[in-house]
Amino acid sequence: MRIVVLAGGIGGARFLRGLKQAAPDAEITVVGNTGDDIHLFGLKVCPDLDTVMYTLGGGINEEQGWGRTDESFTVKEELAAYGVGPEWFGLGDRDFATHVVRTQMLGAGYPLSAVTEALCARWQPGVRLLPMSDDRVETHVAIEVDGEQRAVHFQEYWVKLRASVDAKAIVPVGAEAAKPAPGVLDAIAEADVILFPPSNPVVSVGTILAVPGIREAIVAAGAPVVGLSPIVGDAPVRGMADKVLAAVGVESTAAAVARNYGSELLGGWLVDTVDAGAVADVEAAGIRCRAVPLMMTDVDATAAMAREALALAEELR
Ligand code: GDP
Ligand code: CA
Repeated sequence: MRIVVLAGGIGGARFLRGLKQAAPDAEITVVGNTGDDIHLFGLKVCPDLDTVMYTLGGGINEEQGWGRTDESFTVKEELAAYGVGPEWFGLGDRDFATHVVRTQMLGAGYPLSAVTEALCARWQPGVRLLPMSDDRVETHVAIEVDGEQRAVHFQEYWVKLRASVDAKAIVPVGAEAAKPAPGVLDAIAEADVILFPPSNPVVSVGTILAVPGIREAIVAAGAPVVGLSPIVGDAPVRGMADKVLAAVGVESTAAAVARNYGSELLGGWLVDTVDAGAVADVEAAGIRCRAVPLMMTDVDATAAMAREALALAEELR
């Protein structure tokens, strides 16, 4: 079975770990969000790709959900001693090495997809990890500070400001001119199942879908498309997805997120059992829906979610 997953960082990575357990023989291709990418200290950092790579490769800091296990921050401290920031982005010493290798390879002319493959040769994530695009896409967030409109990099909004101010708009800068990375469209066309993990629908899955050609390829693919709600009990399970949903005019409910994807894209949608009341709503929008436990408390619970998603896809076939 060939499965394609459009993944952000933590939600996507944790789901993938369960999916691998649920479908050990499947050929899984991950299309990763690169709209969160940022240049720091002259280095290219790809937070979502790295979260997937470290999580599946056994190098993730489990409690945090991002960054390396057994991490130290000497380089960051030394940079700060020179007055070189930003200090709000947590880049650890081990993590730095990944970004040095990536930046060096990009500088030598390799596209991001080839660089990602090279990094994965070390981590062996057990999936084919593709960036959504080799072209630079950077999500910016329009905010208002003291009555003045300002655009900040997504990481500045998310990590520095902790989404404490309302987002007026979310703009994946560069997306409209970006091309899907090599392999992305073929994987979608050849997929038996396409899954949207419980990743952020706006700044993770939404950004991937903003790369021209990807949404169209999914709609055109014969495979059933099933998503899992990142919103449980009318709030994100983790993080501030409600803030970016509000910016695109979508309520923070499992049903509203499904409707926003729409029945053209989505064939099936899983909501958590606490949102069982939303099932009828989602089905009224032409999307088949089931209520099942959606908390990724451990790998077994996550594997059960993945099995439910695959079962729903089977029904849709
Ligand atoms: P990010 O790039 O690190 O923000 O990660 P993703 O975009 O892949 O996933 C973020 C989303 O995962 C958030 O909106 C959370 O609500 C969702 N999430 C995290 N843990 C869980 C969980 O256990 N269950 C569900 N259903 N969603 C989760
Ligand atoms: Ca992310």
